[in-house]
Amino acid sequence: MKRIRRILTFCTMVLLALCVGCKPDNPTPPTPEPQKGPYGYHIEEDLTTTNIIEDNYRNYYEIYVGSFYDSDGDSIGDLKGVTKKLDYIKDLGFNGIWLMPINEAGSYHKYDVIDYYAIDSEYGTMADFEELIAECHKRGIKLIIDLVINHSSNYNEMFTRSVLAHEKDLVGFSLTAEEEKYKDFYSFYDGTNPPSGYSKVPGKDFYYECNFSGNMPEFNCDSPAVRAEFQNIINFYLDKGVDGFRLDAVKYYYLGNNAKCVELLSEINKWVKTRNPQAYVVGECWELSDKIISQYYSSGIDSFFNFEASVSNPYGYLLNSINQEGRFCYKYYDGLLSNIEIAGSGIPAPFINNHDTPRFTSRGDVNRSKFQFALLQMMNGSTFTYYGDEVGMVGTNTGTNPDQNVRIPILWGLEEGKCTAPGGTTIEEYPYGSVAEQLADQNSILNYYKKVLLVRNQNPEIARGQVTLVEMDKENAKLFVKKTYNGSEIGLIFNFNAINDLNVNYQQFGFTKVVGQIVIDSSDEKYIGIQDDGSLLLPPYSIAIVK
Ligand code: CA
Repeated sequence: MKRIRRILTFCTMVLLALCVGCKPDNPTPPTPEPQKGPYGYHIEEDLTTTNIIEDNYRNYYEIYVGSFYDSDGDSIGDLKGVTKKLDYIKDLGFNGIWLMPINEAGSYHKYDVIDYYAIDSEYGTMADFEELIAECHKRGIKLIIDLVINHSSNYNEMFTRSVLAHEKDLVGFSLTAEEEKYKDFYSFYDGTNPPSGYSKVPGKDFYYECNFSGNMPEFNCDSPAVRAEFQNIINFYLDKGVDGFRLDAVKYYYLGNNAKCVELLSEINKWVKTRNPQAYVVGECWELSDKIISQYYSSGIDSFFNFEASVSNPYGYLLNSINQEGRFCYKYYDGLLSNIEIAGSGIPAPFINNHDTPRFTSRGDVNRSKFQFALLQMMNGSTFTYYGDEVGMVGTNTGTNPDQNVRIPILWGLEEGKCTAPGGTTIEEYPYGSVAEQLADQNSILNYYKKVLLVRNQNPEIARGQVTLVEMDKENAKLFVKKTYNGSEIGLIFNFNAINDLNVNYQQFGFTKVVGQIVIDSSDEKYIGIQDDGSLLLPPYSIAIVK
């Protein structure tokens, strides 16, 4: 035993002496051997650098302010609350915000504006709004606001004046200049058989147009005084520093007459761009027809929401292209092309859901919902994401379910900021947990969103590039496209299958390097791996970015 110990001690001394003897003056750390795991060698990813271009191709985050973050303890979200969460929004990877209406209004949703020049007192003050704009700009976030000018509230003073002036004119009294201005400010009907969409003015002998509801009378957009008012409102907010507008209900400006709507939109675009050539405007024209949306783009307005791709179309490709074991991937490819084509020289505006539609996150299959979000964010244009989708909020406003169900508070998981659901909400559930919980879980929906948006922010080609097909194999749920922007080219390789891996030899198409990956499971088990022959192995529902 002693002898063995002596031999071991001797050997140790010899080894130590040898090591000291060979020690170089300037030691260089050894190159680590590439680590091979179940999917092959890991790729090298840069997870910190972004390449954000200061143009109007942005990742927008849509906020219903009342359900976002309450800063003053009355359980109603407010503008100061949004300011407080700007770092959260920025960290997610959004660089644009669309605020749903913030002006003084009659209803919880605030699409019935009582005063276009005042902030609703539930949301705060004009000073709070100015602070929000400034804080957005400090963080490189563009702020656009909902501009609801198809209709106002019936409590808007302009409506009251208009009704009185119209009545006076009908009975043949002479009008003052002020009354002349207001007598046809709204769309009135004086006959006995009003067209559909009209209601009787209470206590009067004439009707007013109100396609959405009785408390939302519609402006007469032919009136020069109305148009002057619109321009005033636009100038007022551009002068405050907003970066643009989301135009509500544009096809209702002249319902049934798209050409006249487009004519007014051209005017609006001119007013906005004259005041601020960099401003961005996106219109809500709820139509599934490419042809009609293209017609609207001819107004010069930057963007119109792509409803065809969204959840409001039962066949919308952003959700349905993963069906049939991923063989429907060709629908996504067609969508990539049509999304660009519809917009012409404008900016596409794809989205999956918003405050008027059911939320898209599945109650059962979270992987499916994650991948669908990634499909949205690989589209060209400015994308729009509804607040709360990042934590997988669910909700539907179809059937007997009211709109309030898709406007419930985001669950921060902390006492601060907590909002109460809008009155009338019937279902309030959160199947995937709070923001606090999801921030702490690397495999959460929230952290998946962050990764997807990081990839989008690292590769400007995704939002802006010209799309070319490299390879498509429907049977194996494989789609490989190229996007080229400003002389730079990236490849996007999608595995649309929920269960099977996909092997892709990407180097044969001239790409040499994998620069990013989007995978469902961010632990080390199912990553995009490099094989011994240089090809890639993509796990289910994954996307590789190659250069
Ligand atoms: Ca509040």
